[in-house]
Amino acid sequence: YQDDDDEDKKLHNSNTSDWFTERSVLWPGQAQSLQVEQVLFHQKSQFQDILVFQSKTYGKVLVLDGVIQVTERDEFAYQEMIVHLPMFSHHGPEQVLVIGGGDGGVVREVLKHKSVRQVVLCEIDSMVVQVCKTYLPQLSASLDDPRVKIEYLDGAEYLRNHPNTFDVIITDSSDPVGPADVLFQRPFYQSLHAALKPDGICACQAESMWLHMDLIRSLMETCRSIFASVAYAYTMIPSYPGGQIGFAICSKSVRDCLTKPLREPNAVTTQSLKYYCPEIHEAAFVLPLFAKRELEKE
Ligand code: SAM
Repeated sequence: YQDDDDEDKKLHNSNTSDWFTERSVLWPGQAQSLQVEQVLFHQKSQFQDILVFQSKTYGKVLVLDGVIQVTERDEFAYQEMIVHLPMFSHHGPEQVLVIGGGDGGVVREVLKHKSVRQVVLCEIDSMVVQVCKTYLPQLSASLDDPRVKIEYLDGAEYLRNHPNTFDVIITDSSDPVGPADVLFQRPFYQSLHAALKPDGICACQAESMWLHMDLIRSLMETCRSIFASVAYAYTMIPSYPGGQIGFAICSKSVRDCLTKPLREPNAVTTQSLKYYCPEIHEAAFVLPLFAKRELEKE
């Protein structure tokens, strides 16, 4: 996506009275608002504007550059699906890399898998991690686990220096504007492929089929030209624009099927899952016809 400067100026986000309104050039002509009870943190880091507020009905909310990243009420719908779709499609992931994800929610889900020995979190912005440690402990407590190593680097740069290292890589990125733009470019997917072991799998945040079909189509084309097997899946989440967000799931080896879990649900340690189950794993890849046609177009 190219930022249109004029549009951007017109569409700046507003914090009028006690409502937060999320506007962006990425979803023109629409906006979602959440009622604010208290602003808990608001500061600019070296990379982005960071806001945390207590909302009336969605718990605490993390906002980066005016865009909602996490709400306590529905975060599990995103974290569980972006993690357990690739993790259950691998026969026994031990080394896992999370790119972005400084809130710790994705790492929390990865650590539920008994096979995991090490998780590297590569987050560009240390302030996101510090702020989430203070305000979102249900997500960030995972980052204190001894199996977790944090690297404060650009994910694209980190990947280039770690070929053939990981069983699973999860890109939990913000939208393709600002620091995350690089995470949606072809060289990044080539580096992802190189950083995976021969039977490795990756999952990348891949936007909304209601809003970003052109981006998704081009992303899937790029992935298909690099990986042996590629599929698009999605989850429902009310706090993201369009109420839905998708994932590109890509495997380095040829798979008959990425759409069925390879392992039993007891591969995870706790009963703490609230969204993911084997049935929803398969269902997540079944696309509505309009999206299926777009993604199958030559
Ligand atoms: N779940 C969220 C969503 O889909 O809206 C995204 C989570 S948010 C914590 C994404 C994180 O990616 C941010 O903390 C941001 O700092 C980080 N990030 C953005 N660009 C990055 C880059 N190039 N390398 C590593 N981390 C990056």
